[in-house]
Amino acid sequence: MSSFVIDNVTAIFPDRAAPDSAVKVGDGAILEIGRRGSLTAEDVIDGEGLYLAPGFMDIHVHGGGGGDFMDADDGSFRAALTAHMKHGTTSIVPTTTCTDEAELERIFDSAGRFIASPEAAGLPHVLGFHLEGPFISPGQAGAQDPKYVVPPEEGLWRRIVDGARGLIRIWTVAPELPGACEMCRELCGEGIVFSAGHSDAAYDDAVRAIEAGYTMATHLYSSMSTIVRRNGYRVPGLLEAAMLHDELCCEVIADGKHLPAPLLKLIYKTKGPDRIVLVTDAMRGAGMPDGDYILGSRSQGQLVSVFDGIAHMPDGVSFAGSVATADRLVRVMVKEAGVPLHEAVKMITKNPAREIGEAKKGEIAPGFDADLVLFDGDVNVKGVFISGRRVV
Ligand SMILES: [Zn+2]
Repeated sequence: MSSFVIDNVTAIFPDRAAPDSAVKVGDGAILEIGRRGSLTAEDVIDGEGLYLAPGFMDIHVHGGGGGDFMDADDGSFRAALTAHMKHGTTSIVPTTTCTDEAELERIFDSAGRFIASPEAAGLPHVLGFHLEGPFISPGQAGAQDPKYVVPPEEGLWRRIVDGARGLIRIWTVAPELPGACEMCRELCGEGIVFSAGHSDAAYDDAVRAIEAGYTMATHLYSSMSTIVRRNGYRVPGLLEAAMLHDELCCEVIADGKHLPAPLLKLIYKTKGPDRIVLVTDAMRGAGMPDGDYILGSRSQGQLVSVFDGIAHMPDGVSFAGSVATADRLVRVMVKEAGVPLHEAVKMITKNPAREIGEAKKGEIAPGFDADLVLFDGDVNVKGVFISGRRVV
């Protein structure tokens, strides 16, 4: 068995950053953790005092490097995976926007073939899809094309699940829609995580969703109901339910643009280090120059404009996803929200892995997958390992 040691690193564990560490890797797994200089192997990589963290896991990401996962072609898949890999992402849950059944089928077919191809081995693990819609509130569509927004009719979602052949990991469904909670009850037993988002849910709807099995909230603050006043009385919404209830782990787009520092701090203070999952929600413009890009598939997507570090809808009023990469999210949480580095890392490693049930990912511990990232004090990525193979 060939093995190697990454020596002289500050290893990031869920509860601390440990300077002067060494990590031994073999057969795609983490074998042993020790003090600097204490582990031996055929090869020793000098980590030069850099941080060594578990590889980042992005569970809400539409594309990057010019490619959108909805393009349903190998070139776009490769471009998006490569762009995010360069920034430390080793596991990805490609995310679709609202579209029709036929396009979803094309996407699943193409993704299934790509995942099984030899080329996929040198790229981030594709863990299955996050479907963002089409069962969302028409009033909270955000950057989603309202043309494809439909109610969660049982025949339709059953056909989508059958067509996906096990590729659906997360489903963002507005829980107040008639039939949404029944759908969740049926499918969360089959391993699909339900996330409340693009929603006009009243607080009580959100509580019913939690009872039905919802465990996540999609991009907190974005496309989400909040307090309204009815006859003077304040009625809380999904945002307040997500903040209050520990059962809901909250996606946070910490690109430094979607949410200003005080809101990041408020979320951290309220939810704590274990109930936040950092997501990029990146579109195909991530890792690319400013300009006009299509959000969603080339054939059925919408034209959006990237400038000032974010994608804008043509109306200029709302955002259309980010151009962030995972390293940027960690950097923003540390620098703008004042979160300790090991906790910011946990929010994009251990937390998402736990939420989707990836028991061997998200932590530097013996027996875990050797998906690792080396970075400096400003979270600039200097090396990436996927299944124990150096890829960056
Ligand atoms: Zn999204």
